[in-house]
Amino acid sequence: MIYKYLLALFLFSSLLYSSNVKVDISSKYIVNAQSLLLVINDKNISNAKLSLNVVKRKLNINFYKNPFKKNQLYALVPISYYTSYKKHKIIISYIKNNKKYFKGISFNVIKGKYKSEIIKVAKSKVSLNAKDKKRTQKEYREAVKIYKKISSKILWTKEFIQPIISKVTSPFGIKRVYNKQIKSYHSGVDYRASVGENIYATNAGIVKLVKNRFYAGGSVIIDHGQGLYSCYFHLSKFYVKKDQKVKQGDVIALSGSSGRITGPHLHFTIKLHGVTVDPNQLIDILNTLRK
Ligand SMILES: [Zn+2]
Repeated sequence: MIYKYLLALFLFSSLLYSSNVKVDISSKYIVNAQSLLLVINDKNISNAKLSLNVVKRKLNINFYKNPFKKNQLYALVPISYYTSYKKHKIIISYIKNNKKYFKGISFNVIKGKYKSEIIKVAKSKVSLNAKDKKRTQKEYREAVKIYKKISSKILWTKEFIQPIISKVTSPFGIKRVYNKQIKSYHSGVDYRASVGENIYATNAGIVKLVKNRFYAGGSVIIDHGQGLYSCYFHLSKFYVKKDQKVKQGDVIALSGSSGRITGPHLHFTIKLHGVTVDPNQLIDILNTLRK
């Protein structure tokens, strides 16, 4: 009984300690759908975590050791496209000298300058029949299940590269208007590609999905560890299988025009902790971890 009381007292008192550990945030102002990098340079802390409330959801994210820098912990925080444009607060907790500490860091989400685009697609692809609807729902659930799995191990060591040597034809984040209705936003980057061009793994990882899907067509999803996934859509040919390990720059597939699109191209998406983020902004951040 006394033990329990002392334990409760200890846990309560630990809440009162304020921390002097410095946490660096990549920016105090972030555009919606971009990612933040938080860094702690301290060798004596453990169990570092953070939480953040965004869009009716609580994100709980672990800090990981930066394998490229000594005594550095880092966390990547995805800011959803639909996050409100205001001040938000990240709560960080960690253990130092057997005491648990809490620390708050605030940042502001600002509205990205994303344009609108009118997309013309066949009517049969806009209003789905029962069979296609069932198929898309199943494919959606399957993808969400993949993105939810967060392995603590980092699977990449080299820098992140572009998935194709080509030009961007449609940037990330454009508001999509189908038949005068805003349906969604562009969840990735489109690269110019004719059918049959080499598609490269942006970095090392494990292939988690190889499949022909209704919207995305021929799809490959790679797990890079620690909640980071890269996705390659509208492919015409696969060179990898599920659960296969790939290296940075491996040719994983050929580009194509499969799925709900009007012409061949590569659609490249990145998911971080289940959230869709601007791929190239995240790649820039990821590549700074090695520098
Ligand atoms: Zn696209």
